[in-house]
Amino acid sequence: MPTKFIFVTGGVISSLGKGIASASIGRLLESRGLSVTLMKLDPYINVDPGTMNPYQHGEVYVTDDGAETDLDLGHYERFTHAKLTKFNNATTGQVYNAVITRERRGDYLGKTIQVIPHITNEIKDRIKKVSAVSAVDVVIVEIGGTVGDIESLPFLEAARQFGLEIGRENVLYMHLTLVPYIRVAGEVKTKPTQHSVGTLREIGIQPDVLICRTEKSLSEEMKEKISLFCNVAKDAVIEAMDVDTIYKIPLVFKTQHLDEIILNHFRIKRSKIDLKEWKAKVVDRALSPEYKTKVAFVGKYIMLQDAYKSVYESLIHAGIANNCKVEVVKVDSEDIEKHGAEKFLKDVNAVLVPGGFGSRGVEGKIKAIEYSRKNKIPYLGLCLGMQCAVIEFSRNACGLKNANSTEFNKKTAYPVISLLEEQRNVKDMGGTMRLGAYPCKIKKGTLAWRAYKKSVIQERHRHRYEFNNKFRRVLEAKGMIFSGIYPKSNLVEIVEIKDHPFFVAVQFHPEFKSKPDQAHPLFRDFIKAALKK
Ligand code: GLN
Repeated sequence: MPTKFIFVTGGVISSLGKGIASASIGRLLESRGLSVTLMKLDPYINVDPGTMNPYQHGEVYVTDDGAETDLDLGHYERFTHAKLTKFNNATTGQVYNAVITRERRGDYLGKTIQVIPHITNEIKDRIKKVSAVSAVDVVIVEIGGTVGDIESLPFLEAARQFGLEIGRENVLYMHLTLVPYIRVAGEVKTKPTQHSVGTLREIGIQPDVLICRTEKSLSEEMKEKISLFCNVAKDAVIEAMDVDTIYKIPLVFKTQHLDEIILNHFRIKRSKIDLKEWKAKVVDRALSPEYKTKVAFVGKYIMLQDAYKSVYESLIHAGIANNCKVEVVKVDSEDIEKHGAEKFLKDVNAVLVPGGFGSRGVEGKIKAIEYSRKNKIPYLGLCLGMQCAVIEFSRNACGLKNANSTEFNKKTAYPVISLLEEQRNVKDMGGTMRLGAYPCKIKKGTLAWRAYKKSVIQERHRHRYEFNNKFRRVLEAKGMIFSGIYPKSNLVEIVEIKDHPFFVAVQFHPEFKSKPDQAHPLFRDFIKAALKK
């Protein structure tokens, strides 16, 4: 069977949840026995989101092979079994970079380089590359942005050409749109959808399926109207109402036979659908937990839900695994600097400090960690959250006054976190951190060992600074346990503290590998400890 392609576009407004919809379709198709992979095309000119402010872009999701990618890839990996790499995210920046590099080399032999065909060819080649390296039945390609944007035009044009090139029976166009409910009129409105499909058709793309985001259920009459005006079969007008957990969406699509519609379009026959496990092990458990626990999340980008997407999802997964609802109390670390930790942390069952860059808010994080350590509140530190734990312990348990990371104070007398030699000469900011999966050896008898039950694990990284091994002995003497080490260069990956119910801080990002039906062991045990508290 030739590989099939599904292009997912978005209309009317951004933030409709195209990433989650694409991931859910991936899950739906997997449950019909098809293998899938997913790809995101991002219209911005940055080469990758690695250098973007989290407030602009949200979390940077890191793949095993060390690519810094869009956070939608996180949804893809959480919902499906797809193994994503740097090929699964392409940006306008990367596309132009590749074409211009070739032009400078003289590869085009004097031709005029144009958006069509050179840029669109490069886009199509990237989609084909993903299909070639992953060898799956279906490739789902999500196109970022909203139809009508100038930036996304070359991607849409490439998607159109794709259908022409490999045959319409091998390509399905899916359009996610908004059907707003106008409260004063008491009506849902289809006009924005008509316009956005109209714009798509001008480009030459006739959608095969419409996914309508709406807060009110669509009547049969409304579906007929959308079908007629948009030239899409009525069955293929799918309603996507707001849900109480995103993990329900594959079920919502299944009820409306979206899997059947896709299979029929591609003329594929597969066995009946099975989402029973997903429903029982993920959705039902997420919706009716028996217990509850409260976790303080001490960060500096807490105003934006997307900035720590994978961490929040990992907490939900850990809740599912422990039959409990995890209430996340977001605490701005700068507020702790101003008012102390007690005020914000006295009622919580656990404390988490996520990753971050730059000195703003760091002292507040350190205070929060001191409070958790001294009051025996379960603590989980991620990346910067580990570095801050080391700084806190050095200062307050080992008497290393003003110990710090050289990221925040270059002249500190005790640089307990510092740069490795190979990072000192790095000038470029983009893609030059320690990135991607590295092995880590776990010490027997530790909390990490109890969680992983393995002696060697693989976790993903995204950081420049490291624990400074010069201080290992001093900290160890005072009760810090170095429970995870990267063997090749003896780098500290996991630290714990003696005589504490749960104090684990890691240099890597476990949140990138947690799944709803397979909570990450560290998050799982962290929430278990929170429940005990
Ligand atoms: N700023 C720290 C470093 O670069 C931590 C990075 C992070 O938390 N992702 O090492």
